[in-house]
Amino acid sequence: MIDLNDPQINFALDAVRRAAQMAGSVQRQIEGESVAKDDRSPVTVADFAIQAWVGHQMAQCFPQDRLVAEESSDMLQSEDGRSILESVTEFVRQVVPQASPDEVCRWIDFGKTGGTQERFWTLDPIDGTKGFIRGDHYAIALALIEKGHVRLAVLGCPHLDDKGFFEPKGNGSLIIAQAGCGTWRMPLNDQGPLTPLKVSPCRELAEACMLRSVEASHTHADRVKSFLKQLGVHKPPILMDSQAKYAVLAAGLGDMFFYLVPPHKPNFRMKIWDVAPGALVVEEAGGRVTDAKGNSIDYTTGTTLENNPGIVISNGCLHDKILNALNAIT
Ligand code: AMP
Ligand code: MG
Repeated sequence: MIDLNDPQINFALDAVRRAAQMAGSVQRQIEGESVAKDDRSPVTVADFAIQAWVGHQMAQCFPQDRLVAEESSDMLQSEDGRSILESVTEFVRQVVPQASPDEVCRWIDFGKTGGTQERFWTLDPIDGTKGFIRGDHYAIALALIEKGHVRLAVLGCPHLDDKGFFEPKGNGSLIIAQAGCGTWRMPLNDQGPLTPLKVSPCRELAEACMLRSVEASHTHADRVKSFLKQLGVHKPPILMDSQAKYAVLAAGLGDMFFYLVPPHKPNFRMKIWDVAPGALVVEEAGGRVTDAKGNSIDYTTGTTLENNPGIVISNGCLHDKILNALNAIT
């Protein structure tokens, strides 16, 4: 069972809950007529504002820790970035009313240096940016890593309901996993009960339900096509953006998914914040996460998972069968 009074859990839950509220208000702005659907600036503002908020909370709660995240304040401090910094500061003031632009920059950069390499947090402020812009699934993803192992993970999935379906007007889902204590769900927008999550018992690849990125370029589409054909997978895939996929698999509503290195980017590797939070969510629900060769994920290589080409995520029972099948397809 998860101890909600644990200071690390308290920090992570509160940080992600409020971050989701900030993301929601940016998204309502995108829905307004003034912002075009393909304009990425609102998501940039939301990314910076959420990272500043989490940095602010970390400085209060865990001043010695490091934060490994995508954004740096350099761009905001340049001449071109000044107007974005103003918008970011406005959003941060929703949660820290007296925030100044200088403080916002300091919080964005919080924990970039100092602290120990052995213990750090990793954050994706808005995972699934394309889903966010489209009004589909996205997630706020936060994890604590100690000595190369993910110890704690929280996913805020504003558009995921308690049945694993898309529900943009509902309470959303907050998923929490702690090493050795399982994976749990609760409503994102209110204080509902904790429900344990467990992966599916599916043992046959032909019967498996696959989750897939909406963006076809996030995998090697031809290899995936061959895999589905050779294995006789007939269930229609569930298409979703972001680490909400890990939450759905952890709840037993999908059985497998994978990111294969795309042919047009042979050196592509995932970022640590795109995998670490979701991986613990799946593993603590009974599933398995490895790279495409079956190796464990190496969380000690900094921001990029250099040693892990491709990522395979499954309910566990199917994992070796998936790896064998993938390795038989060139
Ligand atoms: P998705 O599950 O499709 O929402 O993607 C998860 C995350 O991985 C996103 O943050 C993407 O930007 C990133 N990602 C995955 N595969 C690729 C790729 N081939 N090229 C660029 N980004 C990728
Ligand atoms: Mg991401």
